[in-house]
Amino acid sequence: VFNLKEHCEKLIIEVQNQSKNSHVVDFKFSSTKEEVYLDNKLIRNIINNLLNNAIKFSPERDVVKLDVSINNDLIIIIVEDKGIGIPENELGNIYNEFYRSKNATSIQGTGLGLSIIKKAVNLLKGTIELESKIEKGTKFKVTLPLKE
Ligand code: ATP
Ligand code: MG
Repeated sequence: VFNLKEHCEKLIIEVQNQSKNSHVVDFKFSSTKEEVYLDNKLIRNIINNLLNNAIKFSPERDVVKLDVSINNDLIIIIVEDKGIGIPENELGNIYNEFYRSKNATSIQGTGLGLSIIKKAVNLLKGTIELESKIEKGTKFKVTLPLKE
């Protein structure tokens, strides 16, 4: 059992320490129950990687949104930034190991984060959706079923 809201709050503090508070993280949590049964390491990994990407690929002082909600038997995690975006013709490659889009090559990374997220989402029998517009921003939505 772990408290998803508290976990997110701790994670945000860690991520902000690592990035020296370069961004504002706007965190929203909504749920009737805070205690959920799930593999906390995998969920942490998913949120951590998505948040790090949002921070890395958007200008300093920008606001990065993290919305976590528990609806019926689903956990929904949305991470949104107003950063560099992903070119439309590269959206299909983005989960491949070591893939980095052309507009991202000046920013450090190995191209592994999203491939790991994809594996974690599959293990948890969830889905991941992505909306992105070049120079406008990126939104990831992860939906995970709650185990009873
Ligand atoms: P790593 O996560 O291994 O440090 P990375 O962040 O470059 O490196 P991924 O997290 O796998 O790798 O992301 C793959 C590519 O997808 C990135 O290099 C970038 O081109 C694109 N990408 C991912 N998230 C975003 C985002 N929020 N905004 C813009 N581009 C993104
Ligand atoms: Mg990454």
